[in-house]
Amino acid sequence: MKYSILAESLNKMESTTKRLQLTQHLVELFEKTPGDVISKIIYLLQGKLRPDFEGIELGVAEKLAIRAISKSSGIAVKKIEQEYRKTGDLGQAATIILEQKTQTTFLVEDISVERVYETLFKIAKLEGARSQDMKMKYISSLLNDATPLEASYILKILLGTLRLGVAENTVMDALAIAYTGSKDNRKALEHAYNVSSDLGKVAETIASKGLKGVEDFEIEMFNPIRPMLADRVKSEEESIEKMGVEFAAEYKLDGERVQLHVEGEKVVLFSRSLENISEYYPDIIEKIPKVISADQVILEAEAVAINENTGEFLPFQELMHRRRKYKIEKAVSQYPITVNFFDVLYYNQKSCLELGYAERRKLLEKIVKEDDFAKHVPMTIVKTENDIEDFLENSINSGCEGLMLKMLDKPYQAGSRGNYWLKLKREYRNELGDSLDLVVIGAFFGRGRRTGRYGTLLLASYDDDTDTFTSICKVGTGFTDEYLDQLYQILSDKVTLKKNPRINSEMEADVWFEPELVIEIVASEITLSPIHKAAWDEIRKGAGLALRFPKFTGKIRVEKFAEDASTNEEVITLYKGQKKIAHDKSLM
Ligand code: AMP
Repeated sequence: MKYSILAESLNKMESTTKRLQLTQHLVELFEKTPGDVISKIIYLLQGKLRPDFEGIELGVAEKLAIRAISKSSGIAVKKIEQEYRKTGDLGQAATIILEQKTQTTFLVEDISVERVYETLFKIAKLEGARSQDMKMKYISSLLNDATPLEASYILKILLGTLRLGVAENTVMDALAIAYTGSKDNRKALEHAYNVSSDLGKVAETIASKGLKGVEDFEIEMFNPIRPMLADRVKSEEESIEKMGVEFAAEYKLDGERVQLHVEGEKVVLFSRSLENISEYYPDIIEKIPKVISADQVILEAEAVAINENTGEFLPFQELMHRRRKYKIEKAVSQYPITVNFFDVLYYNQKSCLELGYAERRKLLEKIVKEDDFAKHVPMTIVKTENDIEDFLENSINSGCEGLMLKMLDKPYQAGSRGNYWLKLKREYRNELGDSLDLVVIGAFFGRGRRTGRYGTLLLASYDDDTDTFTSICKVGTGFTDEYLDQLYQILSDKVTLKKNPRINSEMEADVWFEPELVIEIVASEITLSPIHKAAWDEIRKGAGLALRFPKFTGKIRVEKFAEDASTNEEVITLYKGQKKIAHDKSLM
């Protein structure tokens, strides 16, 4: 397949912010793509080479790319840097420079998607002393044969600056239209994506085996499953209303969610965002095979830091000490953990997702033998508000956050947040000062002490109907100097030239970011707002909801995706809840 087809399509997509148009461009691209190239196209579109969980990073520095452009064009490094400074985007700068150049040279050779992909793959795999020179050689040989437009998109992918703003849902819509003729078939694609977390593989399957192929998609070991998520409730009363007469309550532990794939001695661990985190937990890798009786199994657990002397659970922050590349052995002995199992998703070549919770729990208890290190998450069956209250009390007293409530007969819904699981946290009960997980979408430069960093952040909640991020408040309090530095560093990788099309904000920020980073916020109240877009028109026509006196709690939720942030539905529920309390108080 000619790479020019992809480059032209990327160019069209970059210049639109409308989801429908993006979908249309994708459909046209997919229709021109042969089945054996589609997975490569899917990864490249997302600026990747393989699904995230494989951890393959391109990691080419700007300096190296500039040298490669210079080598292939014969134009001085200084001149390229000048152009780069003007445009702020190296891909764009390369187009301008190479356009001037091609006027004086002969026609270039056609390059294919396969060649670009394979070369990028080789670059990603290079390591060691001579790797920089080799990388430069590969890049400049590609650029030699590329048109200016093609070169621009090769560079953007290499440098990780391709910002199309296409969500996975949009890609799946387009795949369904291109291969089955109807967007309605997206459900089948979603199923396949939820069990494989690999959109490229899903695309390849629909291209080669059609709809039936994706419907029959099966779980594979060492291929992470997208996690099931929980909605929240505020009180025992509401829990009973939503869950019915009898259901399970488990402790909600405050640790890191881990998906364990175990086959004999081989263990691979994935985080909630499906990153391979095996290297941070050598203790799990070593100890878990000994307590498992199964040939092949995929389990879910919460890894929690503990006080070794008392056995007490410690807060999530303690685990962050393990996020390091070196001296992990020391961190393992300094910050001991227990692994608390709460679900089984796959057992001896069979999916368990369709089994009801009660059956899965029984199976889990059979598979995992408890010892000092491996535990079953404490669970009880509850029927009344009193039962819940008691168990909640126990859970808080053991250092947990609250309870997870689970319907006994319901399946595991991979990749979705629904009503089969609910979370009840102590702090949610009857309070205005609820915490929300919000996405950082923009920032305003600071003054005084904050000069040179971001003084105020613009935050958004998630609208899962439209798959967009809606502005909900600006926040400037709760940040220590250390946090300001840390956030500035994290966010500098996420800066975009234009507002991502999935951001819905009337307010203009000084800087826009890819909607990726999630932070925790408390606020005094939720009010109607003529500016902020969260829950727009939902409570009142022409108004959205905003947070009053928001404050950063100090928790950067690295383990969360932007799509896991608080939804507008949750914000509306909190808004209505607070009105009810105000009303009840006024009656007292
Ligand atoms: P939240 O991050 O507040 O949306 O809560 C969901 C998270 O709670 C999950 O991703 C798990 O990491 C964690 N968790 C703790 N205990 C449990 C449990 N018993 N069942 C499921 N998830 C749990």
